[in-house]
Amino acid sequence: MVEFSKEMLNKKILLMSCTFTILFISLIVINNVNIKGLGPNIAHADTVSYTTTANLNIRTGPSTTNKIITTVTKGSQLTATEKATDGWLKISYKGQTGYVSSKYIKVSSAATDDIQVIAQPESIPVLVNKKNKLPDHYVPDDLVYTTIPFTFKEKTEKKKMRTEAASAIADLFKGAKKQGVSLLGVSAYRSHATQTSLFNYYVKRDGYDKTITYSAFPGTSEHETGLTIDVTGGDGKCAAEDCFGDTTEAAWLQENVADYGFIIRYPKGKEDITGYKYEPWHLRFVGKEIAQTIMSEGITLEEYYDAKRVATK
Ligand SMILES: [Zn+2]
Repeated sequence: MVEFSKEMLNKKILLMSCTFTILFISLIVINNVNIKGLGPNIAHADTVSYTTTANLNIRTGPSTTNKIITTVTKGSQLTATEKATDGWLKISYKGQTGYVSSKYIKVSSAATDDIQVIAQPESIPVLVNKKNKLPDHYVPDDLVYTTIPFTFKEKTEKKKMRTEAASAIADLFKGAKKQGVSLLGVSAYRSHATQTSLFNYYVKRDGYDKTITYSAFPGTSEHETGLTIDVTGGDGKCAAEDCFGDTTEAAWLQENVADYGFIIRYPKGKEDITGYKYEPWHLRFVGKEIAQTIMSEGITLEEYYDAKRVATK
């Protein structure tokens, strides 16, 4: 018979609780890695179809040791029926059910299938919208911390902008202050990784179809350019909310942003062109000349490019 001393028993209990804590933490970490993964989003498997990015084997189980049912060619459409486990997704394809590695599939839907990848993402007046996407690994190479005050204290990527835009927004804030208008930054740069995890989080919460109506598909958010900033009034109220439109700060921005090279990117009444509802707080740096044309003519960046295309024919 083994007798535990009190001390030994305590040690055992301590060891066991440590093991449980480690297990628990690993579970959280694994879960987060999935949410933040840059690969196909697997959180909304019940609603989404996928496109294969390579010729792909469909297997009887979720590992390469399982038998191959069939091989589908690159570009085929699959429907996921269950969440992925260990990088494998249960799918159905032409009436057959099986498992595929999620490494070789990407989310597809009517909303994302005809998206173009932008050739010159570093261009200052770059057009980024629901149909024109930044390359997946694009990171602007001249991001700096802006010097303007924000609604929060922490030094995060949200305070960064590209050099030219950062200095322009500082000038804009100074100009506003001189005229008695006080502004705060809310959110500027957002990395592709952040946008991806944010998008996937919303999808998990609200489903894909609803998410795509209010959150930009990763790569299509202007915030990933480092040329965009959401601002609000100095009281911090109405930050990124409809009521901001009725403030004196919003009126000042409408009148003055162009002088600093910015535009109100999503104007009122242009929802069908920009794909976004009116956002009086979302400023986009395009450079003075283009900004003045766009703001004085009351047009959008989309319309500016169309007009330009016509004009240079
Ligand atoms: Zn914005």
